[in-house]
Amino acid sequence: MKHLHSGKVRDLYQTDEGLLMMVASDRISAFDYVLEPDIPDKGAILTQLSLWWFDQLKDVLPNHIVHHGPDARSVVCKPLRMVPVECVARGYLTGSGLADYRATGEVSGVRLAPGLEDGSKLDEPIFTPSTKAPIGEHDEPISFEQVVEEVGAETAEQLRDITLAVYARGAEIGRERGIIVADTKIELGWDSEGVLTLADEVLTPDSSRFWPADAWQPGRTQPSFDKQYVRDWLTSSESGWDKSSGNPPPRLPDEIVERTRQRYLEAYERLTGSPFKG
Ligand code: ATP
Ligand code: MG
Repeated sequence: MKHLHSGKVRDLYQTDEGLLMMVASDRISAFDYVLEPDIPDKGAILTQLSLWWFDQLKDVLPNHIVHHGPDARSVVCKPLRMVPVECVARGYLTGSGLADYRATGEVSGVRLAPGLEDGSKLDEPIFTPSTKAPIGEHDEPISFEQVVEEVGAETAEQLRDITLAVYARGAEIGRERGIIVADTKIELGWDSEGVLTLADEVLTPDSSRFWPADAWQPGRTQPSFDKQYVRDWLTSSESGWDKSSGNPPPRLPDEIVERTRQRYLEAYERLTGSPFKG
C-alpha cells in the first residue's frame, strides 16, 4: 500500500480501492513531542474504543469507517477533505482552557463567569475551536468569528453544533459509567458528496480528558484516565525535564509506561463495559 502520511500517532495508507487505511501506532505524544518508548497496546485500545464510540454516535452524524482493518489497530475509512479547524468542546475548565481563562477571562472568545478554578464545571458546555497547526507548532485558540471567516457562517454553526452534540453524547454515556468527560476534540471532514463526517479517533484518552467522577474535586489537578498522567510526570520534578528549555522530554520509566497503559485499558473497559481483547 502507498504510504500517504505519518502523524505523531497514526499512519495513513492508500488501499487499492482508493480508500484509506488508518493505523494507530503505540506512540504517545505530549506537549507536541513523540515520547519514548511506546505504550504497549495503545494503538489497538484507541482504535477499538473509537469504533465503539462511532457506533454510539451513529444517529448524531455519519463517520468515516468503511470496515475494520486486518488487525485491532487498523481501520479502513473514506478519504475525507478535512475541516481546517480543531473542534473542541469543554464542559469543565482545565489545561490550556484554564490557562487562557486565567490570562483573559475567556476561552476561544467565550467569556466565562469569574472565580472558576482547575476542574470547575461550566454552566454549559462550550465550543472552543483552535487552529490546526502544522507539525511542530502549537494549536492556537480561535474565536467563533474566526471560524466563520475560515469556513463560512453556515459551516461554522454546523461544526459547533456537531461538536457540542458529540460531547453531550460522550458526557452522558460517561456519566452513566462514573467517568466525567471534561473535554474532547473531534476531527471532521467532507466526504465526496460534501457531507460533514466524523473522522480520525473519537472520545479516546488521547483526544479527551476522562476523570473518575467519584474523585472530582475542583481546585486541583484531577486524577484521570487519559494522557494527563504522562503530562503530570513530565512536568514533575521527578522527570528532571524543563518544558521551556526546548530540549526533548526524557524517556518514560517502565513504571510510568505500565501505569499509563493501565489507564488506557481502564478507560476502555469502564466506558465500553467489556474487557479489552485486542
Ligand atoms: P498531524 O497529522 O498534523 O501530525 P496528529 O499528530 O494528531 O496531527 P495523527 O493523529 O497521528 O496526527 O494522524 C492522523 C491524521 O489523519 C490526522 O492528520 C487526521 O486529520 C487525518 N485523518 C483522519 N481521518 C481521516 C480521513 N478519513 N480522511 C483524511 N484524513 C484523515
Ligand atoms: Mg491526531
